[in-house]
Amino acid sequence: MKQIVTLSGKGGTGKTTVLGSFAALAGDTVLADCDVDAANLYLLLHPQPERTGEYRGARIAVRDPARCAQCGECERRCRFDAITVEAVSAAACEGCGLCVLACPREALTLQTVVNGVLYEGMTTYGPMVHARLSPAAENSGRLVTVVRQRAEEVARRTGRSLILMDGPPGIACTATASLVDTDLAVIVTEPSLSGMHDMARVVQLAEQLRVPMAAIINKADINPDNAADIAEFCASRNIPLLASLPFEEVVVKANAAQIPLVEYDDGPVSQGLRKAWERIWGLAG
Ligand code: SF4
Ligand code: SF4
Repeated sequence: MKQIVTLSGKGGTGKTTVLGSFAALAGDTVLADCDVDAANLYLLLHPQPERTGEYRGARIAVRDPARCAQCGECERRCRFDAITVEAVSAAACEGCGLCVLACPREALTLQTVVNGVLYEGMTTYGPMVHARLSPAAENSGRLVTVVRQRAEEVARRTGRSLILMDGPPGIACTATASLVDTDLAVIVTEPSLSGMHDMARVVQLAEQLRVPMAAIINKADINPDNAADIAEFCASRNIPLLASLPFEEVVVKANAAQIPLVEYDDGPVSQGLRKAWERIWGLAG
């Protein structure tokens, strides 16, 4: 089974546009949205829901009011200001368990709470797994791992041998969880100074995790000098540059129409993505 992820140093580089077109070009594959904090791949690929399930993440303190004497010992002990005699803040509770030990009435327990919803659905291009984190819920790195595990299960169950994943921007725990044990990371960047800086951080993370990389420069003609610097940087790190895509209004129109670009148009950006996809197979092998 091969796993390919698109990543970017920051949001808004066109990573999901690229992944959506790769999904259309692959034709029949398993898709996973690992950008769980801002999942939007479903807007392009329109999965028809087949299954949903609860995502149980963090453990937090839960009080049994019938036992509570309102002595305030839990509030005095908590270092995270997560509990008062009236309530526990699910967003602030770190699940350390100190209040549970401190409570003289055994009124508190640690319980695993529902932190989000996991979705499985069918798109024109194969089954898709994505998730939605509950408001203020944390531990999204673990949710990425859960999405990936579910995508692997789907691939095994349905006999598919490729998983395409839309990863998160940045280098937080969600990026690490998306990169671990993947066969290829396609880093999508723009030729701005911040884009170059952020790309270098993602490259460093992928190198630490020993994940092979390739790169795509989006809107390369907006700043040809910076695009040339990125190409030089890629060459210096042995990162194949799959495409330097020009800026085209049609990309915005395809996204607004919620259609993968390669199915909406056959202009220079679409053609660049087709060529990039042709090269990817050799790199992920
Ligand atoms: S320590 Fe226990 S009994 Fe005291 S306020 Fe907290 S939950 Fe209630
Ligand atoms: S489990 Fe820890 S963080 Fe949560 S309320 Fe109790 S003492 Fe505070």
